[in-house]
Amino acid sequence: MNRLVMIVVLLSLPAAMVSAQAELEPATSTPECDWNTWAGIPNAMTTMGGHQDIALTWDCPMSHGVIDYMWREMNFYKWDGINNGYDAPCNTATPIGRALNALLLMGYATTNNPSCDVNGDNMLDWALCWSASWVEQFNVSCVQEDPTLLGRTSYYLLGSDYTTIMPNGLYRQEIERTSSLIMHESRHWGCGHNADDDQCARRGSCDQSWDNGCDEEESQPGANRYDVTWLSWYANYSIRGSWLLQSDASVRANEILSSGFRRDPCFRLDENGIPHHISLPDSGC
Ligand SMILES: [Zn+2]
Repeated sequence: MNRLVMIVVLLSLPAAMVSAQAELEPATSTPECDWNTWAGIPNAMTTMGGHQDIALTWDCPMSHGVIDYMWREMNFYKWDGINNGYDAPCNTATPIGRALNALLLMGYATTNNPSCDVNGDNMLDWALCWSASWVEQFNVSCVQEDPTLLGRTSYYLLGSDYTTIMPNGLYRQEIERTSSLIMHESRHWGCGHNADDDQCARRGSCDQSWDNGCDEEESQPGANRYDVTWLSWYANYSIRGSWLLQSDASVRANEILSSGFRRDPCFRLDENGIPHHISLPDSGC
């Protein structure tokens, strides 16, 4: 993996104005998994069938170069042997199929040629390359200890850090939410949440504000802003997926906007991902 030196100066939303519970926690050992229990979970677990939708639009036999890129650059860790998912990337019954499809949507939602130029306005153009530049190991857990935990980025003192996607992050939410969750977790490589859990309505994954959400660097965008920004661009500009998924992206973004910031950002997205100011006197808006 090449760690690209990228400083995101401006994270802009689609219009003029301007993850997912996800935590930074100490690493724990990964227990042995029975992958067959994963494969048995039907696609119907997501009400809009988002993972299946994306897989159907992906010409898999032509895409092994793309799969190889994602596998290598995200450094899939301990995924070998999961129901031959590598050879059947469109099989969204498998965790690997769902993860690959979420990564595909991250990188190709609006383009066939993802860019690594993070200065581009449209985050959809460079999301996958940016994420791959940060994530050193990409992992999956088959154990859902806390039903609200969708993913986490863990640190070992002696290295071997990894981002882990939980079963509920892959199987119990629509695919564009999984993609934005990966954006959220990617931001945690070097940037944790900077407000206490009880300072946000959702009691966890709490950033101080839209402009200040990073414990490593004061006044830098945090994981929730990356999460919301990807969702807003997806809702507004995506050429893949469906109107239902784009609308769901705005719903998810608004959930984060209303519950993931200590200081309310004072805007919400419409169903097309366009932000509009809101007045909430009790929240200082
Ligand atoms: Zn987080």
